[in-house]
Amino acid sequence: MLKCSLCVNDERTSRIEVVNGRPVCRECQVYLRHPIDRKKVREELEGLMINVDRAIVAYSGGKDSVVALYLAKEVYKVPELEAVMIDHGLMSEKAIKNARRIAEHLDVPFKILRYDYSDIFRNALLKAQSPCRACSKRTMEKLRKYALKNGYRYIITGHELPFGHHPYRLMSGGIVQIRLLSMMTEEERFKILKRLPFEFPELPGYTTNCLVLGPTLQLYWEKHGHSFEHRRIAALVRYGLISREKAERELQKPEVPEEQWKIVLKKLGIEENQIELIRR
Ligand SMILES: [Zn+2]
Repeated sequence: MLKCSLCVNDERTSRIEVVNGRPVCRECQVYLRHPIDRKKVREELEGLMINVDRAIVAYSGGKDSVVALYLAKEVYKVPELEAVMIDHGLMSEKAIKNARRIAEHLDVPFKILRYDYSDIFRNALLKAQSPCRACSKRTMEKLRKYALKNGYRYIITGHELPFGHHPYRLMSGGIVQIRLLSMMTEEERFKILKRLPFEFPELPGYTTNCLVLGPTLQLYWEKHGHSFEHRRIAALVRYGLISREKAERELQKPEVPEEQWKIVLKKLGIEENQIELIRR
């Protein structure tokens, strides 16, 4: 199987062609023709952050949002911040405690809004699909409404920049989402995390807070033979944001502990034999 020499895509996830004697995926070919101007992205971000006096941070308690909260508070020194966590119903309790501890450490008010996303998760599991897109879309919409209601204009998120060229997004109602981690490397993130009382919860998959991601990833893997995060992680490698070795590790099939499967299936009202049927 041909494998891209620049990222981690292979023939399962992209079209690979040989260019000047080297296998290169379609996305990398586009990137080579139109590379991202890192300096410009960073400048755009700096220009944006200067004007932010009040903002909420989309705070999942995962490592990226923790880094975003730290940057907003300690580096950009946003005068008024609120860390808002949307609990979708299958967050790890340990992660919620972790999130609260970090917010207290940084002296930022912490708020949890609880919802039930069982419909999204049930649907994703029963179809062996990724729940991430629908979950993240709903979460951003809840945060947008919260921002509007409380007079915030900015929502700061821990997103990187894998599929866009600007570190911000205009949302309806005049709300601006700022992707504060645009073009920040994994190494830079870990340097920040080390300074904080952040505990890495041991969850399968690349997540540090979501209980449903591991089971959906594992099921998808069993059906399709690769991770549904493959293309996103390939983009991070292409942009030099994580090493190829780390990416390869994250793309391996997760083995979710029995206990975690039980919690997730019980919460979603799914029987184990329904999952067995999907596996076949
Ligand atoms: Zn590639």
